[in-house]
Amino acid sequence: MTQAEITPPLFSKDTDTKGALEVLEWAYETYGDKLVYACSFGIEGIVLIHLIAQVKPDAKIVFLDTDLHFKETYETIERTKERYPTLQIELKKPTLTLEQQANEYGDELWKTAPNQCCNIRKIEPLQEVLQASDAWISGLRREQSETRAKTEFVNDDPRFKSTKICPLIHWTWKDVWRYVSKYDLPYNILHDQGYPSIGCEKCTVPAFTMDDLRSGRWQGKGKTECGLHG
Ligand code: SF4
Repeated sequence: MTQAEITPPLFSKDTDTKGALEVLEWAYETYGDKLVYACSFGIEGIVLIHLIAQVKPDAKIVFLDTDLHFKETYETIERTKERYPTLQIELKKPTLTLEQQANEYGDELWKTAPNQCCNIRKIEPLQEVLQASDAWISGLRREQSETRAKTEFVNDDPRFKSTKICPLIHWTWKDVWRYVSKYDLPYNILHDQGYPSIGCEKCTVPAFTMDDLRSGRWQGKGKTECGLHG
């Protein structure tokens, strides 16, 4: 099914979940098993998993495992698996191990060429996952950054020749935390230690201002996105 053949309905943001549950219901009805959630297991990811589990308890969820994540992130994944045992959570590895990458491109590629490192460890694995899917879900929120401010619920994604579904676009940081607290969701404890946005350990430090929730990512590297979202 191509995106041209699909016309999504107009979703209202004036619902309990600001449209998120309705978007997910439509997306799973439309794409079925050809819909995958690429989850980073950050705080938005935990909210989405809770919502997805209500709509499709055996949904396919993929974590791009760069081998460079914080141990707290891997612990969060384990706790999530315990809470939602019916979800199919897969850790997708890059083709190259860290050792092979160092041999081929040099040590600590994240310092010398972070775009290339993200390409090998995130973009190519996601491309592989999406080749077997018609659409993917992402936890982008409009308020996260200027580059995300125009995200829609349903987005054409030419980069991955796919369709990107973003149910949380209207959620604020407060909405996210209210939801986590209401349902006592398991989350990454680094969020309590000054990390609003958590990526690979090599490229993430605490945010220097809560006005910019992604300010702790790739500091000093002139980079704000890993390439999954533009
Ligand atoms: S976030 Fe950093 S360590 Fe992770 S893949 Fe990208 S450049 Fe490499």
